[in-house]
Amino acid sequence: MDFSEAKTRSKRTRKGVKLEQQYSHPLQFFHTPPTDTISLQEFEEYAVERLKVLKALDTAGVRHIRGTEKYTELVEKEIKKTKFGPILRTDRREDEFLRRLDHISHFILRLAYCRSEELRRWFLQQELELLRLRFQRETPESRQEFLRENNLNYSPISDEEKRDITPELIAAAGRNTSQAHTQEYFKVPFVEVLDLISKRKVFLKEGFAYVPREDMISILLTHYRAHLSHSLAVTCRALPHLEEDDRLLPMVCGLSKRYVGQDYTSKKTNVGQITADMVEMLSKQSFPMCMQQLHESMRRDHHLRHGGRQQYGLFLKGIGLSLEEAMTFWRKEFTKLIDGDKFDKNYSYNIRHNYGKEGKRANYTPYSCMKIIMSNAPGQGDFHGCPFKHCDEALLAQKLRAQNLSKDYIDKIMNEVKGGHYGVACTKHFLARHTGVEEQDINSINHPNQYFEESQRILRGDKREVLRPVPNTPRSQYSSQSQGTPKSEKIPDSQGTPRSQMSGIEEMEEDDDLMMSLDC
Ligand code: SF4
Repeated sequence: MDFSEAKTRSKRTRKGVKLEQQYSHPLQFFHTPPTDTISLQEFEEYAVERLKVLKALDTAGVRHIRGTEKYTELVEKEIKKTKFGPILRTDRREDEFLRRLDHISHFILRLAYCRSEELRRWFLQQELELLRLRFQRETPESRQEFLRENNLNYSPISDEEKRDITPELIAAAGRNTSQAHTQEYFKVPFVEVLDLISKRKVFLKEGFAYVPREDMISILLTHYRAHLSHSLAVTCRALPHLEEDDRLLPMVCGLSKRYVGQDYTSKKTNVGQITADMVEMLSKQSFPMCMQQLHESMRRDHHLRHGGRQQYGLFLKGIGLSLEEAMTFWRKEFTKLIDGDKFDKNYSYNIRHNYGKEGKRANYTPYSCMKIIMSNAPGQGDFHGCPFKHCDEALLAQKLRAQNLSKDYIDKIMNEVKGGHYGVACTKHFLARHTGVEEQDINSINHPNQYFEESQRILRGDKREVLRPVPNTPRSQYSSQSQGTPKSEKIPDSQGTPRSQMSGIEEMEEDDDLMMSLDC
């Protein structure tokens, strides 16, 4: 998308209202929906950019305590990678485009996240956190202006009134006398600062709370929560009546499941360097649990059902297994149970299809954790899915013990599983398997191929290096029969190709003719 064009357009007037007037403040309360005309591409792109920011807040909130230095550092690092990066700058001047992006993207995600209680809660939490973060970065004048614009313009109490209640103010906030004297206090109805009351941070008298200026954000967030909560409920009721042409609604509905990380469609720099014989060794070394489970089931049963073949096959494609090597890999294992003709007839089409050589020739994307966790739960006899989400807890703990992980790590993983934080559990699993690696050294796991790449990067000590067998080492050493971990050497990625940018698009559809080739 050409954002320079959008930037130019942003300076025009619409309906006689200049954008500078429409967006008079860098922060918005999102009272009025946008009335712009935007392309479908802009629609999707704006939504994905905001989604990246909200997911960054969510991830950082799970990894660190909100408000701490580490938390803020991680959030800022992630926001800088998005088109919302300039919100972190204090010297914003030419930011009409940013305000428009902020406005439109908020309303698109409101549509996407109004559809269930769980989605609404998540969206509300991240939006509140985003406003809190942004409000705190504003100057005192700018904050005051924003509060005034939104009718939250409380007046500070008089010096006389403050003098009368200074001991109580000090006792409530734990401040010393001089701080209490210099601090401005606002008298607000207690229902507007329930969170401050629950933390015993304010003095209460006759139904009013005395709030120091630095805590006024609490009032802002209370109002924003009520406003957004109500707006989400209204949008949810209106959504079924939305008359549109089948293009927008599916996109909106898919947004909440959208993976916004790196596109692992094909690790082109590895293609040709990862061979079928290396998969066994790599599975022990660098595969996440979901893929280890699929690999082990296939080795044991010489077969995988369709869901498993799709999840595993696309993952292998993503790590760099070429079509020819993939064919060799699947054939070798499956023909231990069936003959070659039957394999060609029943399975080779499926493999070629994943590589875009059959059917509609789409370049299918390896599944993200989100897709694995949220869709197509495994049934009886299936081994696909995410073990952290889909495995019985006792069985999962048993599997972790079988991997010789420390009890401390197993406990941490199981705690995250119990809390429903499957990505965090997987990240802890990664740390448990890679001794000496600290949490800040890696990104939270949100894609099986990311797990693999991070692992390879750490094992080789350089992210631009990939594994391949030592030259002249017989391939049989890496065969599926091999039990030991073979030596390997570092091969620099000579191309140094940068990682592909986030596409934000995950293909989920399958051809009808592919479905005909399914087996059980
Ligand atoms: Fe696989 Fe993702 Fe689950 Fe880890 S969190 S096991 S990578 S699906």
